[in-house]
Amino acid sequence: MEVTTDEISSLLKQQLEAYQPNLDVAEVGEVIMVGDGVARVSGLENVMSSELVELPNDVFGMALNLEEDNVGLVLFGDSRKIREGDIAKRTGKIVEVPVGKAMLGRVVDPLGQPLDGKGAIKAEKTLPIERKALGVMQRQPVNQPLQTGIKAVDSMIPIGRGQRELIIGDRQTGKTAVAIDAIINQKYTHETDEPVFCIYVAIGQKASTVASLVAELEENGAMEYTTVVTSNASDAAPLQFIAPYSGTAMGEYFRDSGGHALIVYDDLSKQAVAYRQMSLILRRPPGREAFPGDVFYLHSRLLERSSRLSDDLGGGSLTALPIIETQEGDVSAYIPTNVISITDGQIYLETNLFNSGIRPAIDVGLSVSRVGGSAQIKAMKKVAGTLRLDLAQFRELEAFAKFGSDLDKSTLAQLTRGQRMVEILKQGQYVPMRVEEQVVIIFAASNGILDDIELPLIRKFEVELMESLKATNDTILKEIFEKGSISDELNKKLLEAMTNFKKGFVA
Ligand code: ATP
Ligand code: MG
Repeated sequence: MEVTTDEISSLLKQQLEAYQPNLDVAEVGEVIMVGDGVARVSGLENVMSSELVELPNDVFGMALNLEEDNVGLVLFGDSRKIREGDIAKRTGKIVEVPVGKAMLGRVVDPLGQPLDGKGAIKAEKTLPIERKALGVMQRQPVNQPLQTGIKAVDSMIPIGRGQRELIIGDRQTGKTAVAIDAIINQKYTHETDEPVFCIYVAIGQKASTVASLVAELEENGAMEYTTVVTSNASDAAPLQFIAPYSGTAMGEYFRDSGGHALIVYDDLSKQAVAYRQMSLILRRPPGREAFPGDVFYLHSRLLERSSRLSDDLGGGSLTALPIIETQEGDVSAYIPTNVISITDGQIYLETNLFNSGIRPAIDVGLSVSRVGGSAQIKAMKKVAGTLRLDLAQFRELEAFAKFGSDLDKSTLAQLTRGQRMVEILKQGQYVPMRVEEQVVIIFAASNGILDDIELPLIRKFEVELMESLKATNDTILKEIFEKGSISDELNKKLLEAMTNFKKGFVA
């Protein structure tokens, strides 16, 4: 999955052919310096930020630095084909990518060109990759759930459509796994609900990692409604830099046509590194931690575009799950603090939890969702309302109990309950769970149904309980799904069904 520079050039050329330059716009400048993938051009006085600039030999540049006497370009294409003194021409356009349903099921580069060998993409529309985020009046509060299918997330860190929830953690803590499960879980929305289309943006990853991830999505039936935008570690920095914006333009198409989309940026740390590389070569002044001062703007203007639109504009939404990799759990570094402050909450994944077998390795104490609570279904609110607090108390007790002192009965009971809570919140990869099933198992744990079941058997109990409910008493699951709440009557029915099931449960 390599993008050759020739392909990029011919694509940009194609885009421009349809466009007849206005003579006022077609300003011409001269290259005064070129090297390391960037060029400086004099003239071009009216060039816009992010505008495409045409150079000889089918090389294009994007204007990034607008200075008093020259313009800094990053080059899409081979900088060795450009010489000092070459002519540079304004195009009056910024980079655009194809958008729409034709993109679903495809793996594309940041310019929207196919990398999957499935032929050309016939998209009916293109959109500029950078667009202004919408204002407050064009939005409305987040109030519809975006189910991730992950018990620990949907119960305690609920995400709403239009929200931006950061996934943050050290390397190899299951960050990608959380995002991919969330994508796979959207298959349920395509069966019964308003469908959510997905875009996965891979930035600076190995081509082989992305390939196996695409295979996994395919196997789980998720590629049908997903686009993968990839700029690999071996691609030029400008491509890694624009990849998230390209993906966002594709997501905005669904949002703006009244639909729903979910976008994953995996990961923004690598985008920041690509941007830093470009900036240093363009001699932008380094700021904190040797990053350019405007790296905050890099991520804020991207994430501001995720939103829930007002009903006047169709009520669509774009939900973002940006990923940030931390070093040694240090969330106070420059990039993590930036993105934490931009987003509406974070899912914090922790190495120690991951290694001790608690997967997904979500640190409940440090993870929050600032807006998703209002999007949670009533039934989940009811059963999981105190879950976060219970777990926190359990952790405290657990630490205390390690001293081995005599424990009274009620403390022991609390420990038993807590251990079972932790156990049911564990979940494998690629097995997202429907929300009504999540409600049922959390209900079981919080009502003490699991208290006398031995810890190693909890998994088995959960699986068999679901099977039995589906086989004999589907009305319960259906009612939770349809009504979204648990009536007193249903409460009774649930308890009864569980007690009956437990009688027949053999370890
Ligand atoms: P990187 O920093 O390399 O991008 P990451 O944080 O994205 O890593 P993943 O690649 O998602 O982490 O997961 C790391 C490993 O843990 C993978 O081998 C994955 O299969 C495994 N893993 C992730 N989540 C789970 C889970 N819930 N249950 C079991 N294994 C898991
Ligand atoms: Mg990853």
